Parts: sequence; structure tokens; C-alpha cells
Amino acid sequence: MPNAEIITIGTELLLGEIVDTNTQVIARSLRSVGINLYRTSTVGDNPKRIAQVVRESLSRADIVITSGGLGPTVDDPTREAVSSALDMGLEFRAELWDDIQDRLMKYDREVTENNKRQAYIPEGAFALDNEWGTAPGFVADDAMGVLICLPGVPPELERILDKEVLPWLSSRFSLQEIILTRSIKTEGIGESKVDDIIGDLERSQNPTVGLAAHKGSVELRITSRAESKEEAERDIQEMGNRLRQRLSKWIVEDKDA
Ligand code: ATP
Ligand code: MG
Repeated sequence: MPNAEIITIGTELLLGEIVDTNTQVIARSLRSVGINLYRTSTVGDNPKRIAQVVRESLSRADIVITSGGLGPTVDDPTREAVSSALDMGLEFRAELWDDIQDRLMKYDREVTENNKRQAYIPEGAFALDNEWGTAPGFVADDAMGVLICLPGVPPELERILDKEVLPWLSSRFSLQEIILTRSIKTEGIGESKVDDIIGDLERSQNPTVGLAAHKGSVELRITSRAESKEEAERDIQEMGNRLRQRLSKWIVEDKDA
């Protein structure tokens, strides 16, 4: 099974001005197709430091996904940094430039020379269509590993992940495994008592059962890995039934997570 790292790029993240929700979205997507996530990093808009962290991540992981810094301005440094990390030049793609201009005109935005920067991607990379914004992401499938760069705007990132990145990764790594999770929330019972009642089930390898104590409630998470959605759903259902039998008095919520 391939493993991955995530790098979120943006000084705003380091300054605590925005919350890094992209890491969570990417992490969940990777989990849903059975890719193990080993590490996440955040780096500011500094090309040298970005290049360094990209190189480090690529040396450890099969897949590295970055978010942010693909806009048209000078302080959007991801393209340059990545080309330096891969030791590859940036290449102008006329078809990307056409798409970018079309989109800007469609949204009634002025086309500036700056926007042309977004039509450059590393040599040998292929662009990920971003029909929801202007910054195209790209994938460099290189001897060093697979590097996927996505725009930072959350709705754009989410859509490109779902529509393009996950299907591509599934076929590139022949991913057959699927991971599903269900969350069952209990109230009125403490964590140690829950543990007493279902301790044997917590030792199950697949599906696994985990406990998390929150204020006033205890959450049980069933996670199943299988080769098909049907199989994963069946295992979750079976484990869910065993938990429900033992804990029905305290269950207040029971949903897919
Ligand atoms: P743009 O073309 O809009 O400049 P970009 O790829 O350069 O896109 P950034 O400039 O890095 O992306 O980020 C655009 C906006 O997306 C940020 O101002 C911020 O609001 C949001 N954003 C960026 N990174 C993250 C993140 N990790 N989590 C949540 N939101 C983020
Ligand atoms: Mg930007």
C-alpha cells in the first residue's frame, strides 16, 4: 500500500490567521482509498523552505500532496519551489493559458500578464483541470515519487481531489482497498465502563473499534478495510450490531463518519 505526506503552504497558516482545513480534507480523502498518511507539514510562502520540505517528503513518501501557493502573484511560490525541488524547469503550456483566459473572461475578471504564470508547470507534469477557479493544479509522476500540487482555496481543492486526484491515484497504484468508518456516540456512561463492556471488541484487527472520550459523551469509531465497499459495509454492520446489543441504553447517535 502506498504511503503519503501532505504539505500545506501559506504564511497565513503559520501566523495562525487561517485554520488549516485542507490537511483534514486531504487526509480523509487518502484514507477513503486506503493510502496511509505518515506525516503532514506546514510551510510559509518561502520558495527555499518549500523546496526543502518537498524534497524531504519525496525522499520518504510515495505520494506528496501540497496545497496552496499556485495563484498568479509573486507571493505564490509553489511552482518555482517545486521545479527547484524536482530539479526540472517550468514549461509554458499554451492550452492551459487558453483555459485560464477563458475562465477569467467568463467570470468577468481582467486578464493580466501575471495570470500567465499559472500556465507554467514542471516539465513532464500534467495539469489537473480546475474548472472551479483559475489556478490549475498539476501532477509530476517522477522517479522521486508522485508529487501533486493543488490550489489552496478549499472548495477548489476538494473538487479537484474528488474528481481528478483520487481516480488517478486509484488507477496509478491499483488501489483496491477501501476504508469506511462509522461513529456511534454514547452518553451517560464513562469511558472506562464502555471499555469494560466492549474490551474484547476493541482488540479486533479488522474492523477496528476505537474509543474517544469527549465532554459528556464517549464516541466509538468502527473502521473497516476491505476490497469492496459491500464487504466493508457488511463488516461495519456486523461490528455495529455487536456494539449496539451491548450499549443500546446509552447510544444517542449512530452515523457514517
Ligand atoms: P489563489 O489563486 O487564490 O491565490 P493559491 O493556490 O495561491 O490560490 P493560496 O493563495 O495559498 O492558494 O490560498 C488561497 C486561499 O485559500 C487563502 O487565502 C486561504 O483563505 C485558503 N487556504 C489556503 N490554504 C489553506 C489551508 N491549508 N486550509 C484552509 N484554507 C486555506
Ligand atoms: Mg494565492
